[in-house]
Amino acid sequence: MAPPIVVQVVVDKPLAQGFDYLWDAQKLGRSPEIGHMVEVQFGRSSLVGIVIKVSAHSEFDINKLKSISRLAPLPPLDPAALRLVSFASQYYIHALGETIIPTIPQMWKKPEAWDKILKKLIVAEEKRKKRTQEEQSEGFISEASLNDGQKQALEKIRTCIKKNEFKTILLQGQTGSGKTAVFLNWLIKVLEDESAQVLLLVPEINLTPQLERRVRAYFPEKRMAVLHSGVSEKERGIAWYEAMTGRTQIILGTRLAALTPLPNLRAIVVDEEHDPSYKQQDGIRYSARDLAIWRAHDLKIPIVLSSATPSLETWIAAKAGRYENIRIDQRAQGAKLPNVHLINMRDPQNQYSPGDIGRPKVKSLISKTLANAISKNLEDKKQSLVLINRRGYAPVLSCGSCAWLSKCQQCSSCMVLHKAGALTKKSVLSCHHCGLSKTIPSHCPDCGNADLKTLGQGTQKIEDFIEEMWSKAKVLRIDTDSSRSSKGAEELFQEIHQGKVDIVVGTQMIAKGHDYQNIGMVAVLDADGRLFSQDFRAAERLFAQLVQVAGRAGRSKGDGEGGGDIYIETQYPESAVFQYLLRHDVDGFLSHTANERQEAGLPPFSYQALVHAEAKSLDKAIQFLGALKEHLRLQGQICNGLRVYDPVPKTVMRVAGTERAQLVIESDDRKQLQAVLEAVDRELRENSQGRISKTSRIRWLIERDPIAL
Ligand SMILES: [Zn+2]
Ligand SMILES: [Zn+2]
Repeated sequence: MAPPIVVQVVVDKPLAQGFDYLWDAQKLGRSPEIGHMVEVQFGRSSLVGIVIKVSAHSEFDINKLKSISRLAPLPPLDPAALRLVSFASQYYIHALGETIIPTIPQMWKKPEAWDKILKKLIVAEEKRKKRTQEEQSEGFISEASLNDGQKQALEKIRTCIKKNEFKTILLQGQTGSGKTAVFLNWLIKVLEDESAQVLLLVPEINLTPQLERRVRAYFPEKRMAVLHSGVSEKERGIAWYEAMTGRTQIILGTRLAALTPLPNLRAIVVDEEHDPSYKQQDGIRYSARDLAIWRAHDLKIPIVLSSATPSLETWIAAKAGRYENIRIDQRAQGAKLPNVHLINMRDPQNQYSPGDIGRPKVKSLISKTLANAISKNLEDKKQSLVLINRRGYAPVLSCGSCAWLSKCQQCSSCMVLHKAGALTKKSVLSCHHCGLSKTIPSHCPDCGNADLKTLGQGTQKIEDFIEEMWSKAKVLRIDTDSSRSSKGAEELFQEIHQGKVDIVVGTQMIAKGHDYQNIGMVAVLDADGRLFSQDFRAAERLFAQLVQVAGRAGRSKGDGEGGGDIYIETQYPESAVFQYLLRHDVDGFLSHTANERQEAGLPPFSYQALVHAEAKSLDKAIQFLGALKEHLRLQGQICNGLRVYDPVPKTVMRVAGTERAQLVIESDDRKQLQAVLEAVDRELRENSQGRISKTSRIRWLIERDPIAL
């Protein structure tokens, strides 16, 4: 009798170890390989798992081992892909199984459908062939269309990259300087190798259609897969399969594409590398950008990080010479930068008096200066963008007679008033944290007063106000609410491009990467809130967003005219964010921020992790984290260079009836932090089932390199 084959399999559970199963080569039709996807019996359920070890022995009684039920019709995940998920699992203190399995599309996680899947793939392949034939008639773009600044940048990228060598390149250039054309031209060379694959990461789904069209125009003959959460499960399953088998050369996607197995990966681009959307905020909380850099290092390939406002981490690495810093010099092209206007809201001259806008009791929601600028822009037949980073009508409903506020009964936050619109037939109060929705009370629930008032303003209120003030203008609102209506975001943006809109009101969605052609001015209404946030990264984000939205102004078709206007309403025009913006001094702002962080010992000059705890009551969560801190102290883990702070409630303490606290662990040394986090993980696991503590029923999670505190 042949010796038994034992395979170790990991499944999607928060369990540190793998499980042994027997491999029946005759039944499964082949011998096992590391990376094979299989179906296994696990307890009473059947689960999908990945083979991580093959051997002839088991620590357990072989006769009691179960057999692998089924083998997926897939080649094994390639060794580099397995190295990547192993690293992610170790670095982010997350079990290997629950790191790998969630990266696999749903379509492949239904073993009962594995038999039929090949048929689907053949149909998809035929459709694709037909599609490429149609598309190949489209034009091919070449290097000739690059300007001098772009050509120089491209040349520098090519010169600094050597074959089979890891290199991180920061491609820095103002919005509109043509960074995309530079990295796409760079990829032309990489993709000359027929089997080479490239990974192109973008921060948001909304930005993919536009980039997809450009990539197709550059590479009409190449196969491309698009991977993001907006793609249907079936399409995603097929795209993932084509990528992991090397059939697809270009993989374009959001952060969820970062862990796709790509056996012939030769180059990576991370567009808008500073964008916080690259951070996964549930499950394994990884940074897709950081993993992409690790992956490039592991494969000895180049990676380009592109941004107008690099993250502080990246900028410092470039300054220190760890990354190559290549800039696109745009001044050579004679393009003008937008004019920045700070509207000092403390100055009475900028304020309307009641009645100024025609109705005695109506108070204007925008300053005089801004209103004049919008009117002028309308006269010039240009479009205006008005940014207010809060959706809904008003963030709070309040009673003037007593202290009642529209607090959510499940969360420690206020419910936002949403007026009836495309999404909701009736006006409602809605909680942005737990999703709870309620009808609007006609009277104050506490004192019966019928005159309830809104406090503050969101996109809907500004939209209403602008429609009234400029009644002839065509106004369009873009936020996650309006883009979930019958028209998707892409369609709304098309209306802007086609010139059907005069004034666009929206959240940060309108700030990102869209290639607007006729925006004469941009207005920012709600910037101050983020100047004094307790999160030390808030100013960095605000600056990046303002630069980005400013870059939307003054782009015109072809003529390179540039020089639109951005108006920012603020009570604090003297603050660093606005002053550096006024001078268009990105490096100055980053240098200033770097000094601040260094003095305070904050990241990237130290490394942080959070331990999250969720409980029925805040006291319990705090106690739980306090006990953990005490344990670390007794174990002698808290030594030089390592700081464990006191547990504190989270900014939004209560969400959906659960109360939340966090513990910050900080170290000057990455390795020291790793060791402590492993100790934390061991200690918590020992007393938990999964990630719920056995005694106190507290749910916990470790997060490495948090981007929000
Ligand atoms: Zn009241
Ligand atoms: Zn709520």
